[in-house]
Amino acid sequence: MFLKIIVLNWAGNKLKVFKLIFVNLLIRKWQKRNEQSPFKFPLKKQKNKMAEKETSLQKIQRMTSNQKNIRNVATSAHIHHGKTAFTDNLLAAAGMMAVKNAGDLEEGMATWQHSDEQERLMTVDAANVSMAHNFQGEEYLINLIDTPGHVDFGGNVTRAMRAIDGTFVLVCAVEGIMPQTETVLRQALKERVKPVLFINKVDRLINELKTTPEQMQERFVKIIEKFNHLVDQIAEKEFAPKCKVSVQDGSVAFGSARENWALSMPFMQKKKISFKDIYSLYDGSLTPEERDKWVWENAALNEVILDMAVKHLPNPIEAQKYRIPKIWKGDLDSQFGKDLVNCNRDGEVAFVVTRIVIDPRSGKEISAGRLYSGTMKSGMEVYANNMQSKGKIQQVLVYNGIKPEQLESVPAGNVLAVSGLNVDVGETITAKEETAFEEIKHIFQPVITKSIEPVKVADLPKLIEILKKVSKEDPSIKVSINEETGESLISGMGELHLEIIEGRIKSEKGLEVKMGQPIVVYRESVNKESNAAEGRSPNKHNSFFIKVAPLEDEIADMIEKGELPEGRVKKKSEAVTKAFSERLGWGSDEIRNVKDIYKGNLLMDETRGEVHIGEVIEMVMDAFEMVMDQGPLAREPCMKMKVSLVDIKLHEDAIHRGPAQVYPAVREAITGAMKSSNPMLLEPLQIHVIEVPEDYIGTITKLVGSKRGQILDIIQEGGFAHVKSKLPVAEMIGWSSELRSATEGRGTSSLLEQQFERIPPALQSDVIRKIRDRKGLSENQ
Ligand code: GDP
Repeated sequence: MFLKIIVLNWAGNKLKVFKLIFVNLLIRKWQKRNEQSPFKFPLKKQKNKMAEKETSLQKIQRMTSNQKNIRNVATSAHIHHGKTAFTDNLLAAAGMMAVKNAGDLEEGMATWQHSDEQERLMTVDAANVSMAHNFQGEEYLINLIDTPGHVDFGGNVTRAMRAIDGTFVLVCAVEGIMPQTETVLRQALKERVKPVLFINKVDRLINELKTTPEQMQERFVKIIEKFNHLVDQIAEKEFAPKCKVSVQDGSVAFGSARENWALSMPFMQKKKISFKDIYSLYDGSLTPEERDKWVWENAALNEVILDMAVKHLPNPIEAQKYRIPKIWKGDLDSQFGKDLVNCNRDGEVAFVVTRIVIDPRSGKEISAGRLYSGTMKSGMEVYANNMQSKGKIQQVLVYNGIKPEQLESVPAGNVLAVSGLNVDVGETITAKEETAFEEIKHIFQPVITKSIEPVKVADLPKLIEILKKVSKEDPSIKVSINEETGESLISGMGELHLEIIEGRIKSEKGLEVKMGQPIVVYRESVNKESNAAEGRSPNKHNSFFIKVAPLEDEIADMIEKGELPEGRVKKKSEAVTKAFSERLGWGSDEIRNVKDIYKGNLLMDETRGEVHIGEVIEMVMDAFEMVMDQGPLAREPCMKMKVSLVDIKLHEDAIHRGPAQVYPAVREAITGAMKSSNPMLLEPLQIHVIEVPEDYIGTITKLVGSKRGQILDIIQEGGFAHVKSKLPVAEMIGWSSELRSATEGRGTSSLLEQQFERIPPALQSDVIRKIRDRKGLSENQ
């Protein structure tokens, strides 16, 4: 009775086209509140200034063509370190929102585009905004992408990094560098995105911790040292020096995002102010009006931060010179390669889609991303390299604040959006067929799956439509749709991730759905080399002899890091040749054997002199990929497998060796070889840093122990403990609420790393049986 299963990748955020009416309402509300609040903007002054000038859209339009004066940036931070407050206040100051209370959670924030975020008090979606900024008499265009801090949604951060060249890393002055600070820094440096540091919530040091100016400086020094130490550890050698930050050159700023002020050393020197002046903001010596005036004139957040972006973050022309060789593995000496490296506006169009948004009113897809070469024009014919299909650009949009606005054309070096395409995130759009950009890899794979079905059977078509959209908008979730039974599966990076998606389907899309219990996603592999196993075709005329072995760690690592591109290997793949010969010292014969790199697994063709191999090899690859998607133990995906075709016997006549003969034979050979070489099930484990008051260390040790977990490290500091522990995902269902009740709500836990490890052998057969029962697999399936 089955079924067409469509597997889609991702979906993300809908950028809901921001409703002007809503903005106006907010502005009015804020203006009213502003009358009673400390730290207001001098609104009148700002308005008069705006009235004399061209509109912000006109400005942005003019500025998109001045590549040297563009900065494509994002904020990144550990959760609750203040990104939303920071972004909103930058916008408010740019005259695009209004007013000060923007960073106040109770007021709601303009970048909160989903109601679920208000409930959870965290930003889920990456929202694009563009701003104009004056620096030393010149105008700059700052394209800012706000990225969420929760690692469950780390996919958004990874994608945003592809579009930008620099990032503001926010660190809370009280908490210091936290696990997700490290994660976001890792994501940035992987894409060669340059960081600058903003130490936030300095007001808390003064008001809550009552630190002296000297103690405050000491704290800053500690944070900066730790930051630079991380850069040293993570960044590629030649980039580490230029990614480090320093107070002296102004690549570090500190302040209070919520209260709208910031300072950096060059700024303090220019304004002749010192740390001590900051204290006067909080000692009651100034009236609220005097305080506002002082902040506005001496330490306005937007001025300090955007100055820092202009001075310390690269423009696209500089950045593309060193970023392109990392994120595009084609021939750099070709004309197209040169266009990319030089950010050539007159070159061939090269646009990478980093986010897809579906306009809720028209249902139209808007693809946002980065233009690396050429000039994007409406009406242009383009080619989507991953999908291998042609398309036509309808509209070209840039962001004016958070509102997309239409322009006729936009040159290379900008973050922009287009309508008219129907592609996935990560797609490379060019004029003609070209080498695509490197895949945008998410740091973590989905490890939790739930079934989802409509409450009313009649809503099934609607659910399928919605799931397709959801998976387009958030590529970090995976959806498999069963159009006939109606039961579909949705996989995400954690329970919370799936809860949020469920909430969105219910509230925004207005569909009642039932979700099943969370299911853990496992992997299959082998732990020793097998002998060659034979797979015979149903007509008995063809045989395939295949060996399997665990893939060498170094190769697996290179695939994971993106140094070895995935995909079927074309005749002469420079990237593959280079990786194998330079890094692994393989000879050209051996390299020629590499046929397919698929989801972390490798297929080699070691046959010699087979006349018809060329006619069947594509079918062998198909069958290899099928088995790697669903292994023989429990139909879970395979990982770290090296599969080698060592011999074949083929029927002379092509008619007897079609797909119906080859597929089953190859599958039989691979699964036979796997079964004979100690197949094993791998389970996902997560490393979490649990932060609790010291008194709870014993409680946490017990809790982790009860979940087959392992404590890796405990660091105690200022009455708090950071407990680093490794836990199997299978034991973490309901983790947040258990942690809450064990620590009376005082413990938090954040995901640092995720890996797959062999399941304890004593548990393997039981887990396999449960998965097989759930999937309804019979013994020989
Ligand atoms: P995000 O999760 O990084 O987007 O953080 P938010 O901007 O939502 O901020 C988290 C919490 O910290 C909210 O309660 C903010 O009001 C608060 N917050 C943000 N910036 C500051 C600041 O500079 N000082 C203080 N005291 N609180 C801040």
